[in-house]
Amino acid sequence: MSDYIDLHGNPQSFGDTEAQREVRQNDRDYVFHSWSAQNLISPMPIAKGEGVRFWDYDGNEYLDFSSQLVNLNLGHQHPGLVKAIQEQAGRLATIQPAIANDVRGELAKRIVEHSFEGARSVFFTNGGADANEYAIRMARHHTGRQKVLARYRSYHGSTATAITMTGDPRRWANGVIDANVVHFFGPYTYRSEFHAETPEQETERALQHLEHTIQLEGPSTIAAIILETVTGTNGVLPPTPGYLAGVRALCDTYGIVMICDEVMVGFGRTGEWFAYQGYDVKPDLVTFAKGVNSGYVPLGGVVISEAIHETFGDRAFPGGLTYSGHPLACAAGIATFDVFEDEKVLENVRDLGERVVAPWAAEMVAKHKSVGEARGKGLFWALDLVVDRETREPLVPYNAAGEAAAPMNAVIAACKQAGLVPFAHFNRMQFAPPLIIGEEDLVRGLAIIDEALTVADGY
Ligand code: PLP
Repeated sequence: MSDYIDLHGNPQSFGDTEAQREVRQNDRDYVFHSWSAQNLISPMPIAKGEGVRFWDYDGNEYLDFSSQLVNLNLGHQHPGLVKAIQEQAGRLATIQPAIANDVRGELAKRIVEHSFEGARSVFFTNGGADANEYAIRMARHHTGRQKVLARYRSYHGSTATAITMTGDPRRWANGVIDANVVHFFGPYTYRSEFHAETPEQETERALQHLEHTIQLEGPSTIAAIILETVTGTNGVLPPTPGYLAGVRALCDTYGIVMICDEVMVGFGRTGEWFAYQGYDVKPDLVTFAKGVNSGYVPLGGVVISEAIHETFGDRAFPGGLTYSGHPLACAAGIATFDVFEDEKVLENVRDLGERVVAPWAAEMVAKHKSVGEARGKGLFWALDLVVDRETREPLVPYNAAGEAAAPMNAVIAACKQAGLVPFAHFNRMQFAPPLIIGEEDLVRGLAIIDEALTVADGY
């Protein structure tokens, strides 16, 4: 007996046990889901988690190689974070933003201490999109200019200016909400917009393209350039050599605020506290969320430079949020810093990334005809899947949906069948396991992905 017919016309069941069936039935009947046609989705049920694993209500076990949207850097149910939240809840569960409080102040101090030289303060938000909204607002007030340059192939969140800055299909359906956003291309050597053959050429041409964009838009109208330090959802694209330093130089030349969106890569994903620290560049504003407390309680924020902080020294900053610097979230953030230090999390990310994943990724390119390129850093990786290595035609078209997405859906299904959930997007097999993963689980997960790639080879 089937509970419903899926997108491909196949009968599907809500699960084996009564508990799982009820969870999925309630979800289907009453929960309105983001980014989805409500009748066409069948969300995965999760009953409990621990470390790098979670279980559905039928008792099936999965390795979490997506970290729940690259969020759970310290894994499910880390005892240090759970205890910190419980203790704070027993003491003071909430306070409004104009109040001084021990956990809010201490977390801001620790973030500033781990940030770029010249970082001065932290503005707390509820998540990543609003962190980007506030960073843009600060840049506009600071410079007295309105335009923002953002990149194609980026994701900056789903609120008004954040979705307009986003450079992927999620923006199109929402139309133009902020008319002062202009897009440009960043480096992506494997699919170069600039016909570059080497990463160095790509850097040079991408920077020329950016400077032309600045000149044609009018330097005196541009408040900020925003970029994901390492592009996340849209392909795990680390910057080419010298690119970020070049963007910094252009910002200095034209008096533009440089904003690094570190919502996905901040807090250890690439093996540094913040990914920009691996590229020797100092931004003016840095946005963060997710990894700051592994999303146990919603929290985001903006790290602010001395110069921008001073703009609002004697002049009021016109903006704020009721839950800014929520005590439960901040307590979990402080615990995050402690766990990173006690468990040597950054060292684990660097070691496993370089010693285990990098050679495995090179092996995948050699072994599977569907793997056109492998790229990544730390514990954040993508395999760019193709139908033909010569033409580099993607395994599924950009923005693939429905039948067009069938090959990728088959690869993802093979992973899930074997007990692993990846962070796959369009034609890319991406993965981002919790940063506390051990070598044994990592190797097991990589073996599952390796096996699933034979499905992609068949197309
Ligand atoms: N910026 C980046 C780079 C992201 O990856 C995301 C979310 O995935 C966001 C911003 C938006 O964050 P949130 O969903 O917390 O609003």
